[in-house]
Amino acid sequence: MFSKILVANRGEIALRVIRACKEMGVRTVAIYSEPDENSPHVHLADESVCVGPAPSSQSYLNIPSIISAAEITDVDAIHPGYGFLAENAHFAEICESCQIKFIGPSAQSIRGMGDKMAARETVRKLGIPIVPGTQEAIKDKDDALKVAKKIKYPVIIKAAAGGGGRGMRVCHNEVRLVSALMTAQHEAEQAFGNSAVYIEKYIEKPKHIEIQLLADTHGNTTYLYERDCTIQRRHQKLIEEAPSPVVDWKLRKKMGEAAVKLARAVNYVNAGTIEFLLDEDGKFYFIEMNTRVQVEHGVTELITGIDIVKEQIRIAAGERLSIRKQDKIPLRGHAMECRINAEDPFNDFSPSPGKIEKFNLPGGPGVRVDSHAYAGYKVLPYYDSMIGKLMTFGRNRGEAISVMQRALEEFIIEPIKTTIPIHKEIMKNPIFRRGQMYTDFIQRTMGEWTQKGEIK
Ligand code: ADP
Repeated sequence: MFSKILVANRGEIALRVIRACKEMGVRTVAIYSEPDENSPHVHLADESVCVGPAPSSQSYLNIPSIISAAEITDVDAIHPGYGFLAENAHFAEICESCQIKFIGPSAQSIRGMGDKMAARETVRKLGIPIVPGTQEAIKDKDDALKVAKKIKYPVIIKAAAGGGGRGMRVCHNEVRLVSALMTAQHEAEQAFGNSAVYIEKYIEKPKHIEIQLLADTHGNTTYLYERDCTIQRRHQKLIEEAPSPVVDWKLRKKMGEAAVKLARAVNYVNAGTIEFLLDEDGKFYFIEMNTRVQVEHGVTELITGIDIVKEQIRIAAGERLSIRKQDKIPLRGHAMECRINAEDPFNDFSPSPGKIEKFNLPGGPGVRVDSHAYAGYKVLPYYDSMIGKLMTFGRNRGEAISVMQRALEEFIIEPIKTTIPIHKEIMKNPIFRRGQMYTDFIQRTMGEWTQKGEIK
């Protein structure tokens, strides 16, 4: 096992990794940007190093500075968390060349799955269903029109290097497709440094279902069942739950086995997630693979009892998965997660940074909160707006929702605006309670409610 790990991240995920390390008896090094000097992850770690000023490009994405911090503190490994450098193949390579273990998959795996178009091709060859669409980058507008005509409107333009729900455009007709193509290519170049875009059939009324995987270096690959991340806003997840209210054991097995097949085919090692869309007929289609721990990993931990972050660390240290037999992986009860973001749901979810004066955490049976915030904490405008994840557990979905409702009532964060009010409203919604929602739920069902708030 490693004796010291550097955590190349901030916020709740840095805390999450440090906590896992402490329980495993591994020492930790936190990195921080200048304004994060007083963040809890800095205090919780055994050592800490400032890696630069506020902008991420100069601190949490500053590879030379992070590698120097790792060398000075003499760590054996780096855990990247999610976001920042977690899916940066170049960073993984540099770590390895400096004899520092990157707690994640190989650079080759990151590259192979990071290019969504290349990943689609790999998946297609394995006979796993992908959303109908192009196999190559769109050359020009005639090419785009030809593809769209073949797969039929609506279609969605996506960046090959895309992520975080950015750069996608839904097109219902030719006029829109032609105008969206140019802007999509330009935006992809600006955001990801790669202008390649591709076109997929836009699946109407889908559910987002993803499979959590674990794979070690001894050839063991297992799936920890599915998460349902259908509640999204602008293609970004807002609520996640496990198991999915619409997946039965037959489908679970089919999707889990497809995910394992893909992971094995690309020699995948680490925790990973295969994302699928599930259509109204119960057919599933691969959309992408995330080669890191995800924000929503906690709901899977609650239903399986498996600590995904500790598994990641053990895998990187060359150990075996703690449960290697698929049929021995527990699935008990139901877990739900609400992302608490510093955003104003009544004002188009605009960021609401600032100092938190009052902070009351929920507690009691069935509640887990992963957050780095506290009374007096300043939500900084430079980084992600997520200030915490509220997770609840119950024997069944109804119970997980009841616990969530009372936990949301207890959770007080003032005076900044947060997503707590919209979560309270969603928990009451009959469509959500019946589990009959699609990815357009917020837009379609909550639109009027968010408008009402604006008038208030
Ligand atoms: P990103 O990598 O930016 O997160 P994904 O490919 O994972 O993008 O897609 C994010 C979300 O966008 C999905 O969960 C879904 O809601 C929507 N989406 C993506 N592709 C399609 C599609 N072909 N049809 C309908 N919705 C889609």
